[in-house]
Amino acid sequence: MALMIPFDNSYARLPASFYSRQAPDPVKSPRLVAFNDDLARLLGISPGDAEQMAQVFAGNVVPDGAAPISQLYSGHQFGQYNPQLGDGRAVLLGETLGTDGVRRDIQLKGSGRTPYSRGGDGRAWLGPVLREYVVSEAMHAMGIPTTRALAAAETGEAVYRETVLPGAVLTRVAKSHLRVGTFQVFAARGDARSLKQLTDYAIARHYPDVSGPMGLLAAVRDAQARLIAQWMGVGFIHGVMNTDNSSISGETIDYGPCAFMDVYHPDTVFSSIDRMGRYAYSNQPDIAVWNLAQLATALIQQAEDREALVEEATEIVHAMPGLIRDRWLHVFRAKIGITQASDGDHVLINDLLDLMAAGQADFTNTFRALAGTAARDQFADPEAFDAWADGWRARLRDEPDPVPVMNAANPAFIPRNHRIEQMIAAAVDGDYALFDRLNAVLKRPFDDQPDHADLMRPPAPSEVVAATFCG
Ligand code: AMP
Ligand code: MG
Ligand code: MG
Repeated sequence: MALMIPFDNSYARLPASFYSRQAPDPVKSPRLVAFNDDLARLLGISPGDAEQMAQVFAGNVVPDGAAPISQLYSGHQFGQYNPQLGDGRAVLLGETLGTDGVRRDIQLKGSGRTPYSRGGDGRAWLGPVLREYVVSEAMHAMGIPTTRALAAAETGEAVYRETVLPGAVLTRVAKSHLRVGTFQVFAARGDARSLKQLTDYAIARHYPDVSGPMGLLAAVRDAQARLIAQWMGVGFIHGVMNTDNSSISGETIDYGPCAFMDVYHPDTVFSSIDRMGRYAYSNQPDIAVWNLAQLATALIQQAEDREALVEEATEIVHAMPGLIRDRWLHVFRAKIGITQASDGDHVLINDLLDLMAAGQADFTNTFRALAGTAARDQFADPEAFDAWADGWRARLRDEPDPVPVMNAANPAFIPRNHRIEQMIAAAVDGDYALFDRLNAVLKRPFDDQPDHADLMRPPAPSEVVAATFCG
């Protein structure tokens, strides 16, 4: 059986200044370690044998119909504009139209140097590749828009970071890899013509019902508002919300130092490079607005009469905090079993979160336990929770059936940091059992799976992961 990917490429037909033609660099001895059959089916891919797939998904063989390119972009990194980014270690093989009619990118990440690599080696090591595989698929299973993982391959080559590590390539799938930074690069160059072409392309691909740069801006705002609220709802901290990691389609993209909180605290930061806490859990809504403002600034540059657009763009951006609050309320109401909105809901929710922070409650397990009787056990001071719960139960009297609402909104299983670290350590030693088990369990995050209760446990003190790294 031969691997067949039904490519239908569109980005590679845009002007040559949007990307560089770039084939992946071959590696020494490719080995396929994961392949996502469900996703392959959605993409219309016919799988081949393991040897052939290893050659393709490690970058040694460019499959028929691919038009490999590395994409140009720029972006704000921790608030500072960097005019020269781009895919420094990624190659877009091309796109397919899925069985659902959706166009998606198929990208190799870690596939070697490109014209945008600057000082980097263009490679990835196995840890971040497996981390992204598990976490992005878990996000998808939780119903959160995200890039996905089609395959992971070991390269048989060493990657040099602080130590010598095994190299790997991830095959990432996205509705597109258009970022805020893709618009910024042309805006910064004063290239209004390319900006307009990019705007038209993004609208046709993602938001065919809108028109013009301000239509696109409002559509991206709505998608990002939805996304950030969903992140907040599962205790997800992206870790590097730079504008080059902010997707136009509204998908979660670029799983570097991301992490899920165990104990709830709004100021939680994991990323080792986020020293100021710019991308802390509770800052994410504000950062999403800041990023949208950068998109607005870029989009305006394509207009002949820019002043005319400034007012409209400002209005669109200024509406975003309110939209995020609405989406956040929607997400958290469901988490406490409320389907019928009332005025005091945000107070009720925030009171619980304050108690959780004070009581060092596990974010995931506390919400999951609300549908049962054990939530109070999550708190250092259970009596403080009891007082809150009295008011909450009174509020729930108007709700016909809150338990299924809560169980569909509160995952039992998340990819906890310490399990991800254990999974990576085992895989480096050649043992993929935990990787496989995490993928299987996290496919059904809202189902009770008593055989896997150990994966619900927060880390023991010795297992706590204090910091995450970019990879
Ligand atoms: P990220 O933090 O992963 O979003 O990456 C920021 C920028 O650094 C992007 O332009 C990446 O392509 C580039 N980059 C990250 N890692 C590497 C690497 N190992 N080699 C070359 N470029 C890289
Ligand atoms: Mg990035
Ligand atoms: Mg990255």
